[in-house]
Amino acid sequence: MAPENSLMDKIVSLAKRRGFVFQSSEIYGGLNGCWDYGPLGVELLKNVKDEWWKAMTFREDIEGIDASILMHPRVWEASGHVENFTDPMVDCRECKARFRADQIEESMCGNPAYRGRKAAKCQAEGKFTEARQFNLMFRTFIGPVEDSGAVVYLRPETAQGIYVNFLNVQSASRQKVPFGIAQIGKAFRNEINTKNFLFRTREFEQMEMQYFVKPGTDERYFEEWRSRRMQWYLDLGLTGGKLQWHRHEEGKLAHYAKDAYDIEYQFPFGWGEIEGVHNRTDYDLSRHEQYSGKAMKYFDEASKEKFTPYIIETSAGASRAFMAFLVDAYREEQAPTADGKMEVRTVLRLHPRLAPVKAAVFPLVNRDGMPEIGRRIEAAIRPHFRVFYDESGAVGRRYRRQDEVGTPYCFTVDSQTLEDQTVTVRERDSMKQERLGIDAVISYLADRLGRV
Ligand code: ATP
Repeated sequence: MAPENSLMDKIVSLAKRRGFVFQSSEIYGGLNGCWDYGPLGVELLKNVKDEWWKAMTFREDIEGIDASILMHPRVWEASGHVENFTDPMVDCRECKARFRADQIEESMCGNPAYRGRKAAKCQAEGKFTEARQFNLMFRTFIGPVEDSGAVVYLRPETAQGIYVNFLNVQSASRQKVPFGIAQIGKAFRNEINTKNFLFRTREFEQMEMQYFVKPGTDERYFEEWRSRRMQWYLDLGLTGGKLQWHRHEEGKLAHYAKDAYDIEYQFPFGWGEIEGVHNRTDYDLSRHEQYSGKAMKYFDEASKEKFTPYIIETSAGASRAFMAFLVDAYREEQAPTADGKMEVRTVLRLHPRLAPVKAAVFPLVNRDGMPEIGRRIEAAIRPHFRVFYDESGAVGRRYRRQDEVGTPYCFTVDSQTLEDQTVTVRERDSMKQERLGIDAVISYLADRLGRV
């Protein structure tokens, strides 16, 4: 097995075993391109979204919204999705597998009888049908009658919910251009080939922010947001050398874009986009003005000018970011055991603010009042931070179990605690231990994780 595959397999297996991610509807054989977040996964995902939400909306110039997933079908005509949101699809006449025509070179056949065979080989042998354009939007019907007048779409991106609410938000919050609107929510795409775990799924979450600016100032804000967004990943601990910019070439820009860059992360299977930063010009607001017949212009009180703002978009995938943080944090390291031997410890070096569980509390042994003290410490932490109490097995094994899910701090009650009301705190990455008064535990955590 190629090392990059075995690394990915290990991460997928840990994700399942420790309750980060399960296959959707697993007992029925799974549903392709859909995943469920387990008890620890939902915490990690929520922490990623919370960090993004804080970075975006704890500012004077950005407001949040939560628009509905189903929208008026004209939205998707105006946005260009009905016409343009397609991928070219080909079928292999021999094995019946289906591929994206533009991804044939890197695609492997998913048909069990042909597994391991590069799709490019069938192309070379001329076994593919002509490419057909396939629209990636999921269609459904609103109301009881399934006719064409009742067609609605599951949104393929959250951005349109922001554009159509631009003036509502602007007037309700009395914002002045430049300002932004942020949203986190589900998006759905009927991808032809789903692959690479959470990377390309049919249901996923986006974290999108649209920043409305005066035309002519767009290039400056585009650069500002590019550097802020890259910094966000770095501040949350992603390895700098595994992040890069990919600029969309002139001829390959989306129909709405003046300039576009992707932030790419180097996954074990190769570089992949985790976020796009786009200069969308006045395309979106102009199109909605045209299709809805409602003015979407902004009136600038100061200069008495009316204009259609340009939009700088930062569009991140919560699930792709989740996967990047998980993959980046995964390490297998040599660590000493209690009796001085070396063993491999698996550790998720997640940024403490992203870690699903912030602290664990262990009594060293299950007697002498240690469990009772441990429970009291756990109860004191619980209202403020997610905490896990564990009294089963050797303490070394308990540390390893927490390392594997990225818990940054473990507090252990031992015989010295009975004498001087101190515990040990062991830090996940350095494995260093120090003593700390029981009454200082909350402030120790708050100093490292942010005030509660
Ligand atoms: P790709 O080229 O990989 O299909 P895209 O360019 O279509 O992606 P955008 O439309 O720019 O992606 O979407 C913004 C973000 O939404 C992406 O950077 C990614 O993080 C996320 N995203 C898009 N499609 C998917 C998907 N099928 N599964 C998971 N996340 C996705």
